[in-house]
Amino acid sequence: MTEKERVTIVGAGLAGSLLACFLARRGYRVHVYERRPDPRKGTTERGRSINLALSERGLDALRRVGLVEQVLADALPMRGRMVHPVQGGSDFQPYSRTGGRAINSISRGALNNVLLDAAEALPGVEIDFEHRLVGLVPETGELTFETPEGSARVTAEIVLGADGAGSAVRGQLLGHGVLTESLDFLDYGYKELTIPPVGGDFALAPDALHIWPRGTSMMIALPNPDRSFTCTLFWPTSGTSSFASLGSPAAIEQHFRTHYPDVVPLAPNLVDDYLHNPVGLLGTVRCAPWQHGGRVGLLGDAAHAIVPFYGQGANCAFEDVVELDRCLDETADTWAMALPLFDVRRRDNAEAIARMALANFVEMRDKVASPVFRLGKQVEHT
Ligand code: FAD
Repeated sequence: MTEKERVTIVGAGLAGSLLACFLARRGYRVHVYERRPDPRKGTTERGRSINLALSERGLDALRRVGLVEQVLADALPMRGRMVHPVQGGSDFQPYSRTGGRAINSISRGALNNVLLDAAEALPGVEIDFEHRLVGLVPETGELTFETPEGSARVTAEIVLGADGAGSAVRGQLLGHGVLTESLDFLDYGYKELTIPPVGGDFALAPDALHIWPRGTSMMIALPNPDRSFTCTLFWPTSGTSSFASLGSPAAIEQHFRTHYPDVVPLAPNLVDDYLHNPVGLLGTVRCAPWQHGGRVGLLGDAAHAIVPFYGQGANCAFEDVVELDRCLDETADTWAMALPLFDVRRRDNAEAIARMALANFVEMRDKVASPVFRLGKQVEHT
């Protein structure tokens, strides 16, 4: 294979590291720049562990680069929803009539590490950590990074922004007047809490995605391989019933005893987690176009971040990588054609999942608890 041009990827998260694998396999020299230190050498930020529901769309992408078995070895299949009503008991709603279909709970950090290892093992891939993109000239491909040693400049032939919801690449395109964007934040945020193992075993059924639907708030819990559960509480960020309304340990404990009574005995560090873990924001990013001049492109959350209620953001980012690879196939690696084609092919899908994710919030926090829903509907998603 002849050596192809150099591609620069900004962001070594899920999309960026998987994309590096796909492009290296096509014969490209790929340079990835990531603002964080190497996550394989450190610990995750408190309250930002995030475990993902990985479904068939994401698995398909991993299968194409031979990583699906390695990733699934660290995942736990969830065969349905376990709904926890406030009055006690639980109600299992399988994802398929036979109970055979599952989505997979996986730590975002563990998944990212597998992808980073896979990318680095391929010839032609170089990853520089602690390089934060702060400048981009779209016409010339000149990039400026902040590093611990000071400012660094490089010029790239192709620049792909896989730098997440707050994308600096998108920000630079916006600043140069070649892109428009809209950011719609929910007035809801999220906070992580933990249910540890009890006597070395899972405190709840490990093969389910647990949901506590409470109308204006909702909590979910996904199992981890160490037999703990990561819970994510979704609640408004301000107002009389919101994250801002609980200040003291006593108020926190009382709130959970009233609304999540079955969780209190299972979460001994509840108050400490609540007080110290951050509240994350939730929003939808829309922007257009996703490329400029056939030279700079956006994908994953950088192009179309969505709220997490359909469990499809990472799956969608992985699907982007597969589609971009297909567009390169179909255009004989002509980036000036492949990047606009990618935008055409993915835009309607991204808009559809953005709307479905918002609609699924209402379903998860309200409708899964209704008797009609329980009796009448088999669900296909989180
Ligand atoms: P990211 O994973 O955010 O990666 C972006 C990378 O770019 C990061 O490593 C970042 O450090 C780096 N970066 C940022 N700025 C710069 C810069 N200036 N210079 C250099 N590098 C930079 N998805 C699912 O599919 N299923 C789920 O169940 C699910 N649950 C979720 C639950 C929660 C609470 C949240 C918040 C999200 C969830 N998601 C889920 C969504 C999923 O996490 C994202 O869609 C996915 O991580 C997007 O991948 P990405 O690579 O595009 O962005």
